[in-house]
Parts: sequence; C-alpha cells; structure tokens
Amino acid sequence: MAGYSVEERAAPHSLEYRLFFKDAAGCYISPFHDIPIYADAGKNVFNMVVEVPRWTNAKMEIATKDPLNPIKQDVKKGKLRYVANVFPHKGYIWNYGAIPQTWEDPGHKDENTGCCGDNDPIDVCEIGSKVCSRGEVIKVKVLGTLALIDEGETDWKIIAINVEDPEAGSYNDISDVRRMKPGYLEATVDWFRRYKVPDGKPENQFAFNGEFKDKDFAVNVIKSTHEHWKALIAKKTDGGEINCTNLTVSNSPFCCSQECAKATVDAAPPCKAANPIPPEVDKWFYYQKN
Ligand SMILES: [Mg+2]
Repeated sequence: MAGYSVEERAAPHSLEYRLFFKDAAGCYISPFHDIPIYADAGKNVFNMVVEVPRWTNAKMEIATKDPLNPIKQDVKKGKLRYVANVFPHKGYIWNYGAIPQTWEDPGHKDENTGCCGDNDPIDVCEIGSKVCSRGEVIKVKVLGTLALIDEGETDWKIIAINVEDPEAGSYNDISDVRRMKPGYLEATVDWFRRYKVPDGKPENQFAFNGEFKDKDFAVNVIKSTHEHWKALIAKKTDGGEINCTNLTVSNSPFCCSQECAKATVDAAPPCKAANPIPPEVDKWFYYQKN
C-alpha cells in the first residue's frame, strides 16, 4: 500500500477508536496533510485513503479536527454512526474514502452548486472489484463526479477506480462505467439520495439534476479543492477547528516534529478487540416514496 501503514488504538466500534497512519520509515503522519494528492500527476492518478470498505456500515472518517487526523467513527448525539442498509443496498456500495491534500472550504461558494463546502477532504467512491481495508492507501484513476448537496452543503463525490484493478485499463471516463457496470451509477445516485432517510432526514439533492460529470470536470474539481487545502495549510484561510498539524508540508506554519506526533499517538489508549456491530445495523430499510 504505497509504503504506508496504520496503527490501531482502542476497540473498533468504540468512541475511543483511532487509526493512525505511518509512512514507509515508520514515522507518524497525517493522512489528510502528509500523503500527497498525486500518485502520478502526469497521468492524473491520485492517492485515495480508504475510510470505509465496501459492504460495511460504520461511518469511519478522517478526524479533521484531531491532531494527526486519524480515522475514527463519526458520532452523532453521543452515538456511533452507522449507515442503514437502504434496500437493496448493503452498507456502502463502493470502497469509500478521501483524496488527501484537498479541502471543501466552508467559506467558499461553489460556482456549480451555489453552496459552500462541507469542511472535509473530497470524497471518493472506488468502484474496483477488490474490497479494500480501512486505512489502505490506494492509487486511483478518476472517472467522473456527482455533485451531492447534503443538508445545504456542496459534497462532491468523485468516481474512481483502483489502478491495480485487473480491469482498470478499460476504464478512462464516466461513460465506461455506464457501459461496463450497468446500473452502478444509478445505484450510486439512489444511495446518496436516500441514505439519511432512515435517520429521519429528507432526501438529499444534487446539482446538475443528479447527472454525472466527466473525468476532466472531476479533475478540475479536485484541483480546486487542492488549492483550498493549500491556502488552509499555509494559514491563508482560517480553517477554524480543522487540525493542520503535519510532518512534511514545506512552508506550513503547522509543521511539527516526529516527537510531538509520537506523543499524540502514545497518549491514545492501547489497541483492543473490535466491539460487535449493533444488531439494529443488520436490518434492511424498506423505503417507500410518498
Ligand atoms: Mg464530503
């Protein structure tokens, strides 16, 4: 996995769970700031940090407000968050994660959607055949994007494929997904439209009438979120509670030493066996349109 590794702390599916990242030399790093956006800039191949493996339900995400930005499970009203199985889907239907060194600036109104960013790195849905593991860093080819409006915030979803997928060579744009994985794009829109309905939320909306934009459009969206991240890490934009501690970003006022990074990890509780997933997660949610 490109020389990166992960170190677990506390028990998966607990409030204390954290997954920290290390580089090839074993030094602690931030997956948000220290993993480069590009795996191969010339070929538009990007790095992706897998937060949620396909078919799983726990809403694991890069903790943008914690030092070193480990992966942790999202918490709402004191409870661990799981996405429901919205019929006919099971958990997340792709390997889901983020492109490092990107940021959807909540102070910037997107020219396409008219809504501000969601304050997170840009999200990726990886459509290859392998079920990835949590914390894996993979190289992906970008194929297109969907402009989700989630509770009034712009939340781009990048569609991509692992370059190591045996079929990756056949996928070069969004039209290839439509042709070779029939129904997958429609399922993706359906999933994002309805995934919060079981939690009592309204259906999500989309810009462009829920139509996917192509690869070139998607690459431009990623590049613009990379510019917003650059301003954040250089302290040219006020990131509020975002934690920008990093080990490797040159000219960043947030750059710190490996000793301070190690102290952060050492302060976290030791690794423990995973807690069971609560039984209410393993149910289908049958959805009826009014
Ligand atoms: Mg997002």
